[in-house]
Formats: sequence, C-alpha cells, structure tokens
Amino acid sequence: MSVIGHGNGGTVYKVRHRLISSDYAVKVIQLDKNAVEIREQAIREAEILKRIDSQFVVKCHGVFYGRTISNPCFLMEYMEMGSLQDWLRAHRRIPEKIISGVARWVLEGLKYLHGMSIVHGDIKPSNLLINSKGEVKIADFGASRMVVGTRDSCVSYTGTYTYMSPEMLEPNRLSEDHSDGYAGDVWALGLTLLECYVGHFPLIDPRQKVDWATIFCTICLDEDPEMPEITSPEFRSFIRHCLEKDWRKRGTASELLSHSFVSQFGSNSSEGLAS
Ligand code: ADP
Ligand code: MG
Repeated sequence: MSVIGHGNGGTVYKVRHRLISSDYAVKVIQLDKNAVEIREQAIREAEILKRIDSQFVVKCHGVFYGRTISNPCFLMEYMEMGSLQDWLRAHRRIPEKIISGVARWVLEGLKYLHGMSIVHGDIKPSNLLINSKGEVKIADFGASRMVVGTRDSCVSYTGTYTYMSPEMLEPNRLSEDHSDGYAGDVWALGLTLLECYVGHFPLIDPRQKVDWATIFCTICLDEDPEMPEITSPEFRSFIRHCLEKDWRKRGTASELLSHSFVSQFGSNSSEGLAS
C-alpha cells in the first residue's frame, strides 16, 4: 500500500487486489476534532457517489469503515497518471489540442452530473484524474451536493475559493435570482483549462499572492480581469463562454460540448496525456 495523494479531505492510497491482481485507489477520510461534521460530509459524498455510474467520472466501487478508528474509506478505480495538477507540475503547460480533449471529457462528465441534479462544486486540476489511456475523469465529491428545488441556495458551497465563480463568491448580491450552482462548475472548468494553457493560475499575475481578497477583487470588482493572450480564436471564444461573469449568459455543459473548440479535434485528443 503506497500513498498517492493528499487533499483537504484525506489521504489516498494505491492498493492491489491479491485475487484479481488489479490496482485500486482507497481514499481514507481523516477524522479529527471536527469528526461529526467531516463524517456527515463523507456520508453525503458516499450518497452522491452511489448514484453515479459514468465513464466520465472516477468509479467508486464502495464505501467501508475502518475497523478500529472507523474512518470512512472510499474504494475507487485507480487512475494511473494521477491528477491534471500532477501533470502540470511535471510539464508546466498543455498543448491546445490536448486541452480540447480534456474539455470534452470534463464537459461530458458535467453534462452527466448536472443531468442527475448534482453540482460537483470543486472542479480544479487536482480533482481531474488521468488514466493510462489518457482519459480524464472527474473525482472528489467532497464539496458536491444535490440540487433540490429551484430555490436551492449556493451558500453552503465549500469548494476551493480560487476557482469560485462571481455568483459563488458573492451570493448575497444575487439573492433575488441566485444560481443553482451548475454554472459555477462551468466557470471552474474555464479557469482550469486556462491554467493548463498558461501554466499558472490565470487572471492573476503569477508574482502576486493568490489569496481570498485578491481573488474577490479580481473576479467580482474588476470590470474585466486581464485575460492571458490566446492565439486561437476557437479557444478564445470557448474560454469567453466559460468565464462569462453573468452566470445566466454562461454556456452550459451541453452547449459547450458542441463548441468548435471541442469538436475541431478528434474524440481521443487527450491521449497525449498518457504518453
Ligand atoms: P481530497 O478530498 O482530499 O482533495 P481527492 O479525492 O481529491 O481528495 O484526492 C487527493 C489526490 O489523491 C488527488 O489530487 C490525486 O492526486 C490522488 N487521487 C485521488 N483519487 C485517485 C484515484 N482514484 N487514482 C489515482 N489517484 C487519485
Ligand atoms: Mg481534491
């Protein structure tokens, strides 16, 4: 058993099934002082994972509880190439053709989840995982939730503030007509793909500290944050649709799947991530 990842929620190990000789990932949720809250969140995560069955989402085979300390453990499909964040650390940038392939995988995943009334809530490079075929799947449902009714609030949002959309960062201003949260996933995907293109967190000068205040001022107060130069018109237009400040005008996952940036390359253009 070896450690393959750490996050806010817990530690992820690679394990081998002795009988069938295949690898799995096990995410063990750490329970500390906030045990009740974290356990409730893990139960929510498990409830959502139980409903999901898609080739675009990392498969969870089951949830069990440790014998002595009863930490919740998630048994998952093993994604050999790690996360998009690992890939960026190793290669710095991703070529546009491969980004188009990543966009296709994640949009298919979001289309599926949103169709099931699930908001992922924490789309970012470390939550998008790659397997040995170069397939990119959505993982980590620690911040996700089911949308119930049309007036569901996004106040409970617990994702990473860096990738939060304007309507998530400033929910009160939009209380009369607030978003159900799906558009927030699209915004976070736009930022993630732009990060793949420029090699660092976009919209903010890489020499500047990325803290909550800077994010808030850039995303919510600036007229138009400075966009990195994008040469291809297809990619520029695609990013503009994802990073539309008004969530009502932002593209949905289904709409963006038919954008020319996604359709211009073949369906296996993310294969390069595996080589
Ligand atoms: P957290 O809620 O702690 O952020 P994640 O589910 O995002 O937990 O996992 C943390 C990291 O562990 C990921 O960024 C990734 O590097 C690694 N990891 C998670 N699940 C898998 C998996 N199924 N296969 C391979 N690596 C994984
Ligand atoms: Mg994570």
